[in-house]
Amino acid sequence: MISRRQFIQTSLTTGMGVATLANVSNALNGSESKTRYIAAYDTESPNCLEACRKIVEVHKRHNMPATFFIVGKTLEANPREYKDLLDDPLFEIASHTYSHRMLRDNPFCGGAISPQEKRDEIFKGKQSVETVFERPCLGLRPGCGFDNAFQEAPDVLALLREAGIHYVSSLLWGPDYSIPALLTEPFAYSADGFPDIWEIPGHGWHENLLKNHNRWGPKRVTLWPSPIPEAIPKDFVKTPADEFAVNRVFLEKAVEEAKTFVSLIWHPWSLHAFDKDMNMLDLTFTHARKIGLKPCTYADLFHTVSKV
Ligand SMILES: [Zn+2]
Repeated sequence: MISRRQFIQTSLTTGMGVATLANVSNALNGSESKTRYIAAYDTESPNCLEACRKIVEVHKRHNMPATFFIVGKTLEANPREYKDLLDDPLFEIASHTYSHRMLRDNPFCGGAISPQEKRDEIFKGKQSVETVFERPCLGLRPGCGFDNAFQEAPDVLALLREAGIHYVSSLLWGPDYSIPALLTEPFAYSADGFPDIWEIPGHGWHENLLKNHNRWGPKRVTLWPSPIPEAIPKDFVKTPADEFAVNRVFLEKAVEEAKTFVSLIWHPWSLHAFDKDMNMLDLTFTHARKIGLKPCTYADLFHTVSKV
């Protein structure tokens, strides 16, 4: 005889296991997973340039698109180098603001700047991308991001509209400023009166925090109870394989739950400090294709969702 508890546990485990395997193997068999995968990079410090050289190599080898959100000042420090490196049909270049200052309050990164400073961060950030790359900059990812995106921030949304920014990627935290950020779907800011502006969030960890690269040490950043405990490692990750093991939780969950897309929050400087050969990218891109994810950029996804 098995106990009720054993029975429930067995049913749960096998039930979930079957569902998971069915979805992943459907994808493996080529039956259409519609879920997109976006490789994206918050490019924001002097060390990002050398890192981007390695990153671009891996992308070309995998024929993998990407979106680079670039800080205006970082770009203006090496405009020629970034243009030579990233001016490629595989890549979208978007803004990571002009100098990475806070467009609204963030408990980890600091308080919101003044209205004039917000205007400068948005307008000058977009302008520097357009000047260097000579193509339109459609999107903006604010420094650090927020757990409530730009909801109830009409001042920022009005500036974004005025600047001609079509999408933002500002929802980069889980509930109550926890990490990982959950697999939240894109949405338009209709409830705030800006149906023409889209939010396309980022998901998972800010990978620099997984490695203690900000030297924050132990910190209250995870949620309890966790909606995704399997994505919370016991300690800082030590190897590219450890990092990939966390990434795959999000990729597979996005396929299993038929999400619109999945995109992890990566920083060239931090990836390079941890994994000079970018082995984690190889592992992640190979797995993304294997489970049937469809690679694209943030701009591609914006064009798709905004038409529906
Ligand atoms: Zn950043």
